[in-house]
Amino acid sequence: MVSNNDYQIGSIVKMKKPHPCEKRSYEFEVVRLGADIKIKCLGCGNVLMLPRNDFNSKVKEILKK
Ligand SMILES: [Zn+2]
Repeated sequence: MVSNNDYQIGSIVKMKKPHPCEKRSYEFEVVRLGADIKIKCLGCGNVLMLPRNDFNSKVKEILKK
């Protein structure tokens, strides 16, 4: 599990599960930080919002800090 200090806006992360879109991308860009995190799928460009704790447990790897 990553911690809040491991990423910032603009970071690229690899998730444990792919986005269920056509591209099935594992890679997302962090676009907003707060109690909820917004991440953009690098496959389809859709933005998702999820609670920070949820996000932290779903990240597999920080690709670009
Ligand atoms: Zn997608």
